[in-house]
Amino acid sequence: MQIITEPGQMQAIAEKLRLNRQCIGVVMTMGALHEGHLSLVKLARESAGIIILTIFVNPTQFGVNEDLHLYPRPFEKDAALAKSAGVDYLFAPETGSIYPEHSQTTVECSGVASRFEGERRPGHFKGVATIVTKLLNITKPHIAIFGEKDAQQLAVIRRLVEDLNMDIKIIGAPIVREKNGLAVSSRNIYLSNEERDAATILYKGICHAQQRVGEQAHNLLTIAEEIEAMINRTPGCRSDYVGFVDEATFEPVETAETGRKYLLLLAMYSGAVRLIDNGKIDA
Ligand code: AMP
Repeated sequence: MQIITEPGQMQAIAEKLRLNRQCIGVVMTMGALHEGHLSLVKLARESAGIIILTIFVNPTQFGVNEDLHLYPRPFEKDAALAKSAGVDYLFAPETGSIYPEHSQTTVECSGVASRFEGERRPGHFKGVATIVTKLLNITKPHIAIFGEKDAQQLAVIRRLVEDLNMDIKIIGAPIVREKNGLAVSSRNIYLSNEERDAATILYKGICHAQQRVGEQAHNLLTIAEEIEAMINRTPGCRSDYVGFVDEATFEPVETAETGRKYLLLLAMYSGAVRLIDNGKIDA
């Protein structure tokens, strides 16, 4: 596995790979690699011959009161994990080479980026859309894998690629969970044992929704309220939002129609740690 830090060098390598008719797959991460990230690499290997993994803690997608400076950066461990997962190139640039002082251009998505995370974290999706565009231009992939764990981010990236006519196939990867249902996340290391146990209420909420909709309950607003109450009853937990949306448009949905599929989006605090999760709900 080769470690690259310069965007220009990564581009030159990617260009050469394309000229040699290699299929390039990219997995973008902020590091602190875990089973979720490695599942994306595994999925990429099914469709691409060359895997590029990027590690970049992107400052522009963090809000002023968020955890940018606390964010874990175990680079040596990440590089070893990436290598054993079969990554061919690890692209880990410095912030200054990605955002030089003279840079003036950003990428912004409306609609699908406007609610939920977009509302709670102003500027977040602008940061995401900009860095994803830049990393796609640097790594020149044929396919790019993103986790369904960040469902709204995946929807924003699908829109971005279509709207900007990028010739790249976007593949969504299923959420990797711990045995107790908690979605694996780099931020889980901030949780105490009690907070980690309490956070399993997110998965219990998803199971509750699937059960209620399966029993022909159609009022999704009521079910969302039930889940908010479940979260707020859990010691140390506070619901941020719970809502059902159309999977593609992220338009909120109030009433379930039999045969349709929805996404349940959840965000909450366990102690001071903000966690997001989601589940596919079949009506
Ligand atoms: P991050 O490093 O948190 O920015 O995540 C990098 C990529 O890994 C994103 O596409 C995430 O959606 C994905 N990812 C993070 N956690 C998981 C998980 N538990 N299951 C599947 N994908 C994940």
